[in-house]
Amino acid sequence: MSSKMLGKLETVFSYMAHFILQSWPEKRPGILFLTDSVGRLLNVIRMQVGQTWNPNGLDLQKGSSLCGDARSPVSRALRRGEITVCVADSGPLVWGAFPLCERDGRARAVIGMLAPQTEVDFDFCSFMRGLEPLIRMGYDAYIQHATSEIVMNLARHDNTKDLLTSLVGQIADIVEKGYCSAVRLTEAGTLNSRELVTTEPAGEGDCHIKQVAARLGERMITPSVWDEHRTVVFPISCENRPLYALFLHLPPDEPDCVYDERDVAFLQEVGEKASYALWRTMVADALRREATQKDLLYQLMTRIQASIDVEDVLSEIVTSIRKLYPTAFVELFLTVETNATTPVKPLSFQDDDASTSTRAYLEGRLVVDCEERDGIPMAVIAAPLLGKQGIYGVLQLTAERQAAPGPQETEYVSILAETAGKAFENAQLYQQSRNLIRELRLINEMARQLNRSLNLKEILDFVTKMLLETFSAEFVAILRKRPDEDRFEVISSSLPACHGRLVSASEKPLADAVAGKQVLMLAQPGAKPLPFSLKPCASLMGVPLVVEGELGGVLLAADSRHHFFGFDDYKLLEIFGQHVSLAMTNAMLHNEVERMVITDNLTGLYTRRHLNDCVRSSLEKDCYGSLLLIDIDYFKTVNDTYGHQVGDEVLLQVSELIRRNIRESDIPARWGGEELAIYLPRVDKATAHGIAERIRSLVEAETTPRVTISCGLAAWSRDLQPQFSVEELFHQADVALYEAKNKGRNQVILA
Ligand code: GH3
Ligand code: MG
Ligand code: MG
Repeated sequence: MSSKMLGKLETVFSYMAHFILQSWPEKRPGILFLTDSVGRLLNVIRMQVGQTWNPNGLDLQKGSSLCGDARSPVSRALRRGEITVCVADSGPLVWGAFPLCERDGRARAVIGMLAPQTEVDFDFCSFMRGLEPLIRMGYDAYIQHATSEIVMNLARHDNTKDLLTSLVGQIADIVEKGYCSAVRLTEAGTLNSRELVTTEPAGEGDCHIKQVAARLGERMITPSVWDEHRTVVFPISCENRPLYALFLHLPPDEPDCVYDERDVAFLQEVGEKASYALWRTMVADALRREATQKDLLYQLMTRIQASIDVEDVLSEIVTSIRKLYPTAFVELFLTVETNATTPVKPLSFQDDDASTSTRAYLEGRLVVDCEERDGIPMAVIAAPLLGKQGIYGVLQLTAERQAAPGPQETEYVSILAETAGKAFENAQLYQQSRNLIRELRLINEMARQLNRSLNLKEILDFVTKMLLETFSAEFVAILRKRPDEDRFEVISSSLPACHGRLVSASEKPLADAVAGKQVLMLAQPGAKPLPFSLKPCASLMGVPLVVEGELGGVLLAADSRHHFFGFDDYKLLEIFGQHVSLAMTNAMLHNEVERMVITDNLTGLYTRRHLNDCVRSSLEKDCYGSLLLIDIDYFKTVNDTYGHQVGDEVLLQVSELIRRNIRESDIPARWGGEELAIYLPRVDKATAHGIAERIRSLVEAETTPRVTISCGLAAWSRDLQPQFSVEELFHQADVALYEAKNKGRNQVILA
């Protein structure tokens, strides 16, 4: 069959011609023709191969009328609806005209025959009557042939849309009147005009079939003819399942046409025969769609289960569900805060009449609602994102009811939401544990570093660096509270300019951090920065450092960016604060112990051991220095006269006098019981002598009870004594002191 089907009449005719030619006696000329319902020639076939005979005076061009004369056999056959046979006046011709009638009797066409009378030596009339069953059979055979041809063609298609396009196209080609359309039937057998295929050219506005379908509305479709034979409908069903309704419909711009019973029969025939092929493609489509969905679902599940990123999980869910249900509107509601860029809405509980999503959340199960929006019936499917530890949100699909996902697909949505919930939970747990590990690492590292050092400066430098690296903030600082003052001093900072700056404890936001003795997190709303004398900022965190129960200082981290610090940063800084407090306490305690080790209890002067160390290091690094050894004269007598207590007080008075009359760099020490010593680094003998004399006269003048001191002075210089030892220096001073005693006491003797 040619790609463009022959029109129905011509096809029927050529079909029948085949049978008629078979029964026509051999080697006789003659003409077989077809006219339409008004006698116009549609087709002409010569009966003999290579026939030269032509009836005289007859125009046998296609389109010319054979009804010029009312008595012509063609017009008579059309008029009466009967076979007409006659011999024409205009020559020795025999005519036979066979009207093709509708069941209502109207003649639709004429199949006729012409032959030279001389050649017809048989009963032409009987021959014509004999043709009648042949023609009827031919017509039936043609319909059979055409429908099986159509159904065979249908077998080539494996999807419903292609199959229907081919089906309506072929039907329309054969019927040659109006359009042919196929409209999807619902399970109830009513029309779903959303899914249709038509031969109507796509134009502006509603096409004709949509208007037809709209008129049939919610009616159950049965085989029927409407609009005075201008609309024919046949519902195709298979195994009692309504599939599609086939329509033949004439648009208003074809006013003179109607569909006849043969068209109706043809539509029915094709519809019935096509039902299995259609069912097959529809099942195949459904299977394919299901397979695709399962595939998508599977891919999605694998991807989101493998994902450990909350953001990935969310965007994966949204994009996949849009692929699965392209016509539905997808929304994702979350109860938890995420930094996701995926469009996510917070779940609202404010509505009085709980929305579908809220109910799905509260009841922890799939909820399907039907509602009207702008007069269109909609289905709303809400599935909770269920995790093991809670419900994280709701996945909601809204679709027009007719296109809404079926029960199986609803099941998919719920599986998807549940998988998403678990994946979401996993991702969150993973992120939390990753943060936790990061924090533990940092804390460990910090604790290790802090424990390695008892040097306060080292600790401060380390903590500052650590804070800066951890929070990547623009500004970090460590502030120490000044003892007995309501002020803080910057003792370490990422901005050197801040070092040593003093901040009043009542200045905001410092005051807030100090007040609660707990971590303060500030976020300045709007564009203006938070005013702060150290560093104006938009985000600030502060942790008070509590040393032995007292507020000892504050750790600060600040940044000009808004919402720069997160909750995790806050928790981390709090832990940092505890460690730093401890480290600072330890460092301070250590300093104190160190001081105690080198200090004499009674006098507050250095110990003899520390003096020795200092002299040794001075001998190594300096060029010269002097040592004074001092002994209180007749101290035994003081003890004996006033008691040991007063003796101690006198010893303290002398120590105080010494301390007040030497420089910071000099080292005063208690050398023995009531013997004292002063080492003067980088002081020559003459200067030292002056100092010794001054101290001697001050002691004599200012002690009560009055005592005097004797003093031995020894000095060294690298130039004169390159290999001088500590012992030698002490020995020389001791000898000088002995001499001072011997020479009458209360004097200074130079070695
Ligand atoms: P001089 O040095 O002038 O020869 O006479 P002295 O009486 O000071 O004799 P010496 O230096 O030998 O005696 C030291 C006495 O100082 C012995 C002891 O009773 C007394 N003494 C030593 N250490 C202390 C001390 O820490 N406190 C008191 N109260 N007395 C001390
Ligand atoms: Mg002594
Ligand atoms: Mg003495």
